[in-house]
Amino acid sequence: MAEIQLNSLAHSYSKTPSGPEDYAIRQMSHVWHKGGAYALLGPSGCGKSTMLNIISGLLAPSEGEVLFDNVKVNELSPKDRNIAQVFQFPVIYDSMTVYDNLAFPLRNAGMPKAKIQAKVDEIAAILELGEVLHNKAKNLTADEKQKVSMGRGLVRDDVSAILFDEPLTVIDPQLKWKLRRKLKQIHEQFNITMVYVTHDQLEASTFADKIAVMYEGQIVQFGTPRELFERPNHTFVGYFIGSPGMNLIDVERVSGGVRFDDFTVALSQVQQRATEHSPSQNLKIGIRPEFLHVSNQPSDDTFKCKVKDVEDLGTYKIVSLQLGSQAILARVDEDHEIAGDTVYVGFPPQWLKLYIDEFLVEEQDA
Ligand code: ADP
Ligand code: MG
Repeated sequence: MAEIQLNSLAHSYSKTPSGPEDYAIRQMSHVWHKGGAYALLGPSGCGKSTMLNIISGLLAPSEGEVLFDNVKVNELSPKDRNIAQVFQFPVIYDSMTVYDNLAFPLRNAGMPKAKIQAKVDEIAAILELGEVLHNKAKNLTADEKQKVSMGRGLVRDDVSAILFDEPLTVIDPQLKWKLRRKLKQIHEQFNITMVYVTHDQLEASTFADKIAVMYEGQIVQFGTPRELFERPNHTFVGYFIGSPGMNLIDVERVSGGVRFDDFTVALSQVQQRATEHSPSQNLKIGIRPEFLHVSNQPSDDTFKCKVKDVEDLGTYKIVSLQLGSQAILARVDEDHEIAGDTVYVGFPPQWLKLYIDEFLVEEQDA
């Protein structure tokens, strides 16, 4: 396994890119540490597959370097990079048996026969392919085919890394959950560097120790699920992570804080200083629905809101509120009574985030 380092990487599919929007990867650097279980999370089209293909060598980047354990591999072929890649759709040999499909990468690597058998049996058992091991691949169901495809990626524990590109797309939901657990189990067993691409935050957080959130061709945050939740580094992370996402409100600077409509929101000293020092007019405050303080009584530092809707989701409720011109959401416990059509919300200072040009203003203790 290897540490994978991307240095000033950029990629455009156009031969004559004229601006950032022509880049699938906008210049960025990143390190995938050795032995980690990582997710690369982002919406469709943000550049996830492009990045994996650059790491595995299927694609040569327009700019920048790819290093494995500090050695530049830009010129190495995919084969010489020793990376296993599992794609969205099964890549298997239909005319071969499941056994031979799984054994293929090992035979290629020159592994002795007895060892191949042991390894294939081990992976087949984990993926529950034992019963079809000697069937021809072409007769398998779509789920089984993808399991074989994943198995082909997983049999070799001598690879630098295993890259998964939305591998569970074709798998039915029940099995998805199970396979994700198995991948995690395999990671714990073999400690191979794994990068798992998905656009599903739940999938990302159940598989990975650390998640890289990608947006418009760049990794905008790399952190634990908790860090992404509690301290989104970019408004996109706030919006994309969480259910529902972060409330984001456009604001203007005023003395002591920021303002929207007729409401003034106090900021911390650090946040105030940041607004004073930045010439930008693109200022937002952000607060997660879970962290809004919702009360039936007014008090200091609360804002009067109109209750538009209360959606009871069992263990919690989502309350849709109108605060001046802003529609905001609060997430409260199931036993939290919302009486009448007016509530008072507070923004607890530790959860009130400030974004300038979409990026978080870090508090000093961060
Ligand atoms: P993701 O995997 O996150 O959905 P991709 O890496 O596939 O995103 O695509 C990133 C961007 O690059 C998209 O705008 C996509 O349309 C474009 N793109 C991907 N592959 C090609 C290609 N072979 N030729 C031209 N543009 C491409
Ligand atoms: Mg993709």
